[in-house]
Amino acid sequence: MRTFKRILLVAGCLLLVAQIPFAVNLYRTARLASEIEEMNRSRSSVPDLGFKDYKGVIHVHSFVGGHSTGTFDELIRAANENGLDFVVMTEHVANEFDSSAKTLNEKHGRAIWIGGNETTTSGGEKFLVIEGFDELNKLRFVSTDELLSEIGGREKLAFVTYPESFKSWDSDFDGIEVFSLHTNAKGMNPFLFLMDAVWSFRTYPELTMARHFRRPSENLARFDKVAESRKVSLFGGNDAHSNIGFHLFGDDANNKLFEIKYDRYGTIFRLMRTHILIPEHEELSREAILAALRSGRSFLGLDILGDSSGFVFYSEAGNGAPVASAGSDVARGSVLQVVSPLPARIVILKDGTKIFESEAVRSAEFEAKETGTYRVEAYLDSLGAPFDEMPWVITNPIYVRNPSALNTGVPKPTNQN
Ligand SMILES: [Zn+2]
Repeated sequence: MRTFKRILLVAGCLLLVAQIPFAVNLYRTARLASEIEEMNRSRSSVPDLGFKDYKGVIHVHSFVGGHSTGTFDELIRAANENGLDFVVMTEHVANEFDSSAKTLNEKHGRAIWIGGNETTTSGGEKFLVIEGFDELNKLRFVSTDELLSEIGGREKLAFVTYPESFKSWDSDFDGIEVFSLHTNAKGMNPFLFLMDAVWSFRTYPELTMARHFRRPSENLARFDKVAESRKVSLFGGNDAHSNIGFHLFGDDANNKLFEIKYDRYGTIFRLMRTHILIPEHEELSREAILAALRSGRSFLGLDILGDSSGFVFYSEAGNGAPVASAGSDVARGSVLQVVSPLPARIVILKDGTKIFESEAVRSAEFEAKETGTYRVEAYLDSLGAPFDEMPWVITNPIYVRNPSALNTGVPKPTNQN
């Protein structure tokens, strides 16, 4: 009996000692939250370049497309709480009806809602189709090429989701989901995350999740490879389902007691946003949002670390020509510029390789003497690990071309080589 008590005592002590790292993590997360609060207070205004920044989320599911119990009320409330300007719904394709038409569309609260779909090809490749359309339920499990030609024929967007299991890299899609909250969550060590969740999740749900994020290096490399030879947009997918968690008591009518849900819409919408740039003279509309997403006039921001609104990667041609934003073609010799509302380490990559870096700055510029595909990653090193390796902002590229290869109408820089 005495031996048994001793074993119990030792096990109890070990359990207590094992909790120390997670208690330390709670302390660190609390400190991180106050550092972020202080940093956000130091936001600087950004120059007027003729664009307005609107923030939203892409890749959201509700009860309409299955795999989710989320209601329209929950969605609209979460979008309003977060001050979102747009939400792209991506309902799973239904058998008997058009789930993209039955989900949230038009304007609710502040946000413009766009009904899209998520669908799978015969080879198991997955796409977000924005906007969705009725015939998609007959196009499930056709080949990737056939699906893309049907989507392209209707002038809708085909965005690759789950790029880790995608193979048809030569096919004609419009964008790649380089960072997915859902995939990142699945990649976390479940034991470590669960212990962190027990200690920190109720007080700091978003930061508890964000501290487990890792830079999506493989997806970015896949994107860079495609973007080297043609224009393509990158984006972050929230993949919000509002369906991961548990409750102790409940019934089929959704009455639950002692419920913990890890992926509430509000939490997922706060973590990461897609920012789009719309010309100042244009009103925000469904068409303007789709045009910005198509042309890569956008970037993704882990806004829980600091509001990235106003961050901009651009090239100014001068002579009254419009500023060329991400997604544009500019001539070799153009000066690429970055402005950040928060001090950050700004990294410029050319065809996926780092060619410029500047620490703790709010602006940077780089003369692009060589043709290539240039994009920016910004890091908030001051927040410590893992955020010195996990970007806060990832922009779409600016494409630097030989002057002779530029279409007319594209702003010509003043300092061409
Ligand atoms: Zn999904």
